[in-house]
Amino acid sequence: MHKELKDYQNLIDKCVLCGGCHPDCPTYQLSRMEHDSARGKALLAKVLLEGGLEPTETLARTFDHCLTCMACVEACPAGANPVMVITAARDEIRKKRGLGFIPKFIFSKILPNRALMPLLAWAMGAATTLFKLLPPAFPGMKAMTQGGKKKLMPAFRFSSLKGSLPEVIPAQGEKIMRVAFFTGCMTDWVFTEGGKAVIDILTLCGVEVVLVKDEVCCGAPAFFAGDRASAELMAMKNLALFANAEADCIVTACATCGDVLQKIYPDLVPGGATQKFSDKVIDFQKLLAGQLLSRLPVKEHAGPKLKVTYHDPCHLSRGMKVVKEPREILRRLPGVEFIEMAEADRCCGGAGTFSANYYGDAVEIGKRKAENIKASGAKIVATECPSCEMQLLDMVGRFAPGVEVLSTAEVIRRSLERR
Ligand code: SF4
Ligand code: SF4
Repeated sequence: MHKELKDYQNLIDKCVLCGGCHPDCPTYQLSRMEHDSARGKALLAKVLLEGGLEPTETLARTFDHCLTCMACVEACPAGANPVMVITAARDEIRKKRGLGFIPKFIFSKILPNRALMPLLAWAMGAATTLFKLLPPAFPGMKAMTQGGKKKLMPAFRFSSLKGSLPEVIPAQGEKIMRVAFFTGCMTDWVFTEGGKAVIDILTLCGVEVVLVKDEVCCGAPAFFAGDRASAELMAMKNLALFANAEADCIVTACATCGDVLQKIYPDLVPGGATQKFSDKVIDFQKLLAGQLLSRLPVKEHAGPKLKVTYHDPCHLSRGMKVVKEPREILRRLPGVEFIEMAEADRCCGGAGTFSANYYGDAVEIGKRKAENIKASGAKIVATECPSCEMQLLDMVGRFAPGVEVLSTAEVIRRSLERR
């Protein structure tokens, strides 16, 4: 049984209300309202737990107005973890108010069931096609329109990456290890080229890659929306499925999936077997930089260099603590000039459903990111989180046109393919 808000009393009490995280909190910086800060939300969670607040829609929206970027966790001198408190408060409120039929149906019935995923992908594909066709002024489009421009949506595919590949993809040349690749839904159905690039690079380095065909969503959308029961269900399914994969490690190339598998699963399904699974989870860039980089068949390149910068996804840098590895990789690639941008670790403003619920604020936060990318002079921004990629595509489209958004694996592949 997963933890509830009352189980985080110690974390609520750890917040000494100093306000030290205020300068780093993007939502507080935007509104300067106390309830948009970690301190304000810790206080609200405390009163909610004591029964002094009703779980109203306003309270639900207040807790939803957080990017779960963990900047407060990193900045906190007292060791508080406002993100765990905020997500538990969302769960507490949603248990009392309900989640709404459509999200509940998606979280509890579709995402935990691989066989039903094509239905969701087709529905999302149809919805995004319709969204692209309708004018910004059309009724209902306002929530995803800013400055007269609609959100730029990526294309949802009607067939998945895993569906197009065998279960075991052999290593090229001598096999040095066998890994299970947890693709995650967005890589499987939207950013498939990024997933393909991960597999190509791993196999090129002598790694046998196993795809667990029945893998279900990691549970992040449900967990962060406040439906821990559904997230727990997905965690249990994945734990059982990957127990049979017989792999040296479980590789992720999605910051959110990786952080959830590594840090949230032990909280959702406590026990030795979960910890064993979570200890095997490793980010693709970390695996590559730590164990495989010397096996990458790089060739010197005489032509003009690709100018590349890197955006740190919050769940990768603050969650999985992967910071130096992508830089090490990008600096090592021939034909690539790596340029560090200002505030590379600042949240891009996407944050999953945050950008759907608060699109105006997502654009405001993302604008600063796009301006930093533009100021770096890079023509490519690399990252390793499909949710960030989605937000960056929209933001550079608005504020830094001409910049390409790619996953780190795609940049590596492009560098290797250059003549
Ligand atoms: S979360 Fe930490 S830094 Fe922020 S107000 Fe509380 S104690 Fe201070
Ligand atoms: S997680 Fe990010 S947005 Fe949420 S309170 Fe902390 S710093 Fe602010």
